Amino acid sequence: MPPLNQLTAHELHKKLKSREITSVELTESVFDRINDVDDSVKGYITLTQDIALEQAATADKIFDRGDQASSLTGIPIALKDVICTQGVLTTCGSRILGNFVSPYDATVMHKLNAHKTVMIGKTNMDEFAMGSSTENSAFFTTRNPWNLETIPGGSSGGSAAVVAADETIISLGSDTGGSIRQPASLCGVVGMKPTYGRVSRFGLIAFASSLDQIGPLAKDVTDCAITHNVICGHDPMDSTSANFPVPDFTNSLINDVNGIKIGIPTQYFSEGIDPQVEASVRSAIELLEKLGASTEEISLPHTEYAIATYYIIAPAEASANLARYDGVRYGLRIDQIDNIIDMYKKTRSQGFGDEVKRRIMLGTYSLSSGYYDAYYLKAQKVRTLIKQDFDQAFKKVDVLITPTSPTPAFKIGERTDDPLQMYLSDIFTTPSSLAGLPGISVPCGLTESGLPIGLQVLAAPFEEEKIFRVAYTFEQNTDHHQKKPKL
Ligand code: GLN
Repeated sequence: MPPLNQLTAHELHKKLKSREITSVELTESVFDRINDVDDSVKGYITLTQDIALEQAATADKIFDRGDQASSLTGIPIALKDVICTQGVLTTCGSRILGNFVSPYDATVMHKLNAHKTVMIGKTNMDEFAMGSSTENSAFFTTRNPWNLETIPGGSSGGSAAVVAADETIISLGSDTGGSIRQPASLCGVVGMKPTYGRVSRFGLIAFASSLDQIGPLAKDVTDCAITHNVICGHDPMDSTSANFPVPDFTNSLINDVNGIKIGIPTQYFSEGIDPQVEASVRSAIELLEKLGASTEEISLPHTEYAIATYYIIAPAEASANLARYDGVRYGLRIDQIDNIIDMYKKTRSQGFGDEVKRRIMLGTYSLSSGYYDAYYLKAQKVRTLIKQDFDQAFKKVDVLITPTSPTPAFKIGERTDDPLQMYLSDIFTTPSSLAGLPGISVPCGLTESGLPIGLQVLAAPFEEEKIFRVAYTFEQNTDHHQKKPKL
């Protein structure tokens, strides 16, 4: 049998239930792995070993007594450091929150606790989730377990890398413009961005509130569905949370795509896409056709405006959300000051990194009077056009299939001096984010140099079930998700 930390939650659940293994043994195997490899991967900002072992012992008691256990009881989970955890450091990858301990738990944390999961630690991320490579973390850069010289993607780079390196069983990330799907794709794991409103944002540190969503990263589609079941649901603490029935997503794990209509957006197979990425995604589509799906080319004509639109709207919201870090209420405060304005200036100058400052300036500019109509309002209108493209498409097809990222993982440092190049990493994920759609990235191949390639499946809002069915069928008929990096 492979070491416990390499197994999936659904495999482990059977062993926990039959008492073939204990959650304490499982948790220890995860920490052994962390001790072996995290010095090179650098996926974690904070480890919570004492809490984890205590939670594992509690879970074991539930299994010993034969009490009702859920599929996630006793399962190790890591959380992106943007999710508030009471009593445990939540830094958001920023110096300004470097010592911040949240006084409350995020709703997703409450839900995980109710299922008696095991918290392994908090994972590294781009500061305030702004970035595509985890190089914007104020602390250190996480490395891609498939090649330590390359980036893991971002901003949930830590959450993707620790799943890929078997330093946890499951993790949670957050996705504003691609931050779950893109790192999942680059690290060869499965990552799901739920429909906007599916998962409560209460206790998720806000970046761009009309876009942010929490979602799972896992070793396979089944674990993703199991975790999705646990974290979804209406929450009165989040005014944008959808009061919508949550189906049991594991019922959609059906190995059959007969009758499913797949749309292939022509704009996503354009110039700039790496030929190996294109080839892998096209052969994945061919496989799904062989398995009974039909395909059709679809045009999403406003796709080319998505990056520009996203980089108006997300920074505008960020500039408002980040106004709260003023050195008064929480987080860093610089004390050597002349007056209160000086305190704000010094705290924010020293507390925020370059990318965060760039976004605050861009956002403040596009919201300022005289520019609001030209930039922010215009961007909102284009956002509607992008959404309408998708509405039209989903009248014809069940799902859309695209590459998740135009390229595989790039070298550390390669794009840090070129923000535009970095922003283009999200060219295939931002349009669906602007439209609030759910999307998954599943592994669909490796490049010649052994770097993972990901396939994105998108559906209409609240139609995650279709995504799970297509992704599951693809996974069951391939072995990409079983490949592991050699560390
Ligand atoms: N890379 C994009 C950005 O920098 C998306 C980030 C995200 O989804 N959090 O904004």
